[in-house]
Amino acid sequence: MTDLPSTARVVVVGGGIVGVSVAYHLTLRGVSDVVVLERKQLTCGTTWHAAGLMVTFGSTSETSTEMRKYTRDLYARLPAETGQATGFKPVGFIEVAGDRDRLEEYRRVSAFNRHCGVDVHEISPAQVEDLFPLARTDDLLAGFYVKEDGRADPVDVTMALAKGARLAGATIIEGVAVTGVTRQRGVVTGVTTTAGDIEAEYVVNCAGMWARQLGQRSGVNIPLQAAEHYYLITEKIPSLSASFPVLEDPSSYGYFREEVGGLMIGMFEPVCAPWKVGGIPDDFSFGEIPPDWDRMTPYLEKAMARVPISLEVGVKKFFCGPESFTPT
Ligand SMILES: Cc1cc2nc3c(=O)[nH]c(=O)nc-3n(C[C@H](O)[C@H](O)[C@H](O)COP(=O)(O)OP(=O)(O)OC[C@H]3O[C@@H](n4cnc5c(N)ncnc54)[C@H](O)[C@@H]3O)c2cc1C
Repeated sequence: MTDLPSTARVVVVGGGIVGVSVAYHLTLRGVSDVVVLERKQLTCGTTWHAAGLMVTFGSTSETSTEMRKYTRDLYARLPAETGQATGFKPVGFIEVAGDRDRLEEYRRVSAFNRHCGVDVHEISPAQVEDLFPLARTDDLLAGFYVKEDGRADPVDVTMALAKGARLAGATIIEGVAVTGVTRQRGVVTGVTTTAGDIEAEYVVNCAGMWARQLGQRSGVNIPLQAAEHYYLITEKIPSLSASFPVLEDPSSYGYFREEVGGLMIGMFEPVCAPWKVGGIPDDFSFGEIPPDWDRMTPYLEKAMARVPISLEVGVKKFFCGPESFTPT
């Protein structure tokens, strides 16, 4: 393990995709005296099991849309910059509209997104079927297609950002947990850790679903709560191509993409289930949550009906992991 430095300009708490991205971008802007402290191993929180959708369409915020566009470009350029793959595949993305309200909403969103530089186009149900032949399209009104979007590998992206940050001078240390933030007269002066103290000018809390607990120790309220988040992966489907675009259908609560020859069906069910409201366990690492089949089956059936062949093949994995959300 790298020795813990006694001082750093910036300490970043957490080695998920957000923590290493903060470190990478600080070094990019000339701040290289950065130390990332990860409690266990890079990506071990929620990053390792993300589905990896890389989508620029859909936001009604200019800032968020700019960040999405920037991120897509970043994932495309990082391999050349760092020698580490990101798994970014610009297979395209289609959001489908199955009723008039959604059609109206997506027409407005796509006009705004085009204004922000996202090359999104309305396509017909027949064109949706051409691009994703396994989808049921007879009940759809339209699709909204971004050819340059797609998917990335969240672990590879994290490793590429970590490599880029290290190459530019940042230090990343695994196996060290931050136990508190030190302050003098209300000003942050560093962190205490399981391996000693570090004096720092800035401390960035990138502890993901643990961020609320870490903030609480310093009297800072961070409104984040973990909830169950699901995807199902089917057995191999020979007619499913890895080059099919990612398909999203909010009216059936699902998104769909190829995963090692099978279909990944990701779920955004309308009523979610909070996870560990009393506190996220300190030792949770590369962890899974036992899936609640009874609660999820009605949603799953609805989502699977969008790609009917998924109802005819076996289930390889029904995955449930925590993801933290800000309650609204
Ligand atoms: C099933 C599923 C599918 C998803 N699909 C997508 C998707 O398609 N696209 C997308 O953009 N997002 C997706 N997400 C969301 C995505 O996974 C998260 O938004 C992202 O991983 C959050 O990254 P993070 O760095 O904030 O958190 P984490 O990856 O959880 O990182 C936080 C890190 O902080 C460390 N840590 C915590 N406390 C301390 C401490 N005191 N000291 C030191 N280290 C500490 C933890 O060990 C952890 O490694 C999905 C999530 C799930 C569950």
